[in-house]
Amino acid sequence: MKGVKHIHVAVVVCTVVSVVIIWAAVFQVEAGWGETRLTVFDVGQGDAVFVETPSGKQMLVDGGPDGSVLSRLGNAMPFWDRSIDILVISHPHSDHLTGAIEVLKRYDVGLVVESGVEYSTAEYEEWQRVVEASGAPIHIARAGEVIEFGDGVRFEIFLPAHAFVGASLKNVHDAMVVGRLVFASSSALLMGDAEASEEYQMMYAAEDLFTDILKVGHHGSKTSTSEPFLRAVSPDIAIISSGRKNRYGHPNQGVLDRLGMFDVSLFRTDSDGSITFTTGGHEWIQEK
Ligand SMILES: [Zn+2]
Ligand SMILES: [Zn+2]
Repeated sequence: MKGVKHIHVAVVVCTVVSVVIIWAAVFQVEAGWGETRLTVFDVGQGDAVFVETPSGKQMLVDGGPDGSVLSRLGNAMPFWDRSIDILVISHPHSDHLTGAIEVLKRYDVGLVVESGVEYSTAEYEEWQRVVEASGAPIHIARAGEVIEFGDGVRFEIFLPAHAFVGASLKNVHDAMVVGRLVFASSSALLMGDAEASEEYQMMYAAEDLFTDILKVGHHGSKTSTSEPFLRAVSPDIAIISSGRKNRYGHPNQGVLDRLGMFDVSLFRTDSDGSITFTTGGHEWIQEK
């Protein structure tokens, strides 16, 4: 959507210091009007999650491993809409980044959100070139920030816990951008490829991690979705994004067993295809 490119960043001091990004929306609407739609795209072995808010603002969290995200976006968005308000890159692994490069080349992106961690691959270098060429502003995500969409929807950033700009890490999963989409009493926690150590950081830092929908971390890998974390987030619905017959064996049986212990309704892109839920602010309803 056009007309929402003016971003004001304000520092709000309360019990903790948080940064609030307020969208100067042309049409402010009250919470409760319209629906928020969340789609975990079937992009094979990778992640791409699309969000549309009641006032039509759009956020894409990761772009998947290739250009398949473009046809998924084509289905999810009107053909005339060539802009996306926010493009979040959870981390620079190619199964999250490569499709985002194609998105940036074809869509007018209002804001890029990432951790800024150093990563030396040809794809990441291309990503940086394409971001620069696009002219999209970059926001480096930090725990405690809230992105307000101006229509009752917000995206609360839980990780990364501190700045990783220029940092070169052995495991870029340590600089994961993790956030919770909240619309009234509905929520969805988008874990990217966060692993157990990130889950513990979140449990240590945040009092409330409850979520209705859990976009399961790291494609259902055994290194994620620990039992204490599941207890802390207490999801009703879990969505795993993984490729059919992928070579990593995702999702791991232990993760499926743990989710089963918590009586979670499970959805998987490898068997269900793209998965869409909508909410008017209370209950998520699956859109078939
Ligand atoms: Zn991944
Ligand atoms: Zn990864």
